[in-house]
Amino acid sequence: MQKKKKLDNLKKKMEADNSLPLKKGSTKLVFGVGDSNSKVLFIGEGPGYYEDQSGIPFVGRAGKFLDELLHSIKLPREKVYITNVIHHRPLNNRDPLPEEINAYGKYLDKIIEIVEPSVIVTLGRFSMGKFLPGVYISQVNGKVYEVSFKEKTLYVVPMYHPAAGLRNGSVKRATMEDFLVIPKVVKKIKVKKQKKEPSKQMGLGVAS
Ligand code: URA
Repeated sequence: MQKKKKLDNLKKKMEADNSLPLKKGSTKLVFGVGDSNSKVLFIGEGPGYYEDQSGIPFVGRAGKFLDELLHSIKLPREKVYITNVIHHRPLNNRDPLPEEINAYGKYLDKIIEIVEPSVIVTLGRFSMGKFLPGVYISQVNGKVYEVSFKEKTLYVVPMYHPAAGLRNGSVKRATMEDFLVIPKVVKKIKVKKQKKEPSKQMGLGVAS
């Protein structure tokens, strides 16, 4: 089955799941958006007002900044996949609780399994905490971590949340610089794959 179809099915399942703790107070499920075949997955925190109204992640002010950041590395949002740690808006945009992150986490895990990214860019401390527990974002932003997730190795790049950049000029500048790491990691992975699969890439047998 195609990844897009799998994600559509998962979205339907999630929409029907009345056990999700924030469903009641929200307008729409904000599942995810973008290219299901992308090698780069962005994980934010959770929907705000505009996302709750539209059902699409990162369409408010922080989303506009995210679009600018993506544009700066020539990777438009249509070419990546974007989702969140929680997929319903908490009332008054409060921080998600650990039990809420946990409840939505089983769906986030499925999204990751379906998309199969090589690179996960975490936006903010909640998505970072899923892969790099116990670290401070200011100590790791823009660094690349090799992480094992469900027995697969992938690269995690923690970034500040775009909303933090809108509040603070130096965080904004740091985030703009950190984003430049993304195309470098993607390139490195491509080269690594080519080295691993010479026969496939070059149409030649491997010399013995
Ligand atoms: N902030 C997030 O973390 N996610 C969104 O979808 C929007 C704003």
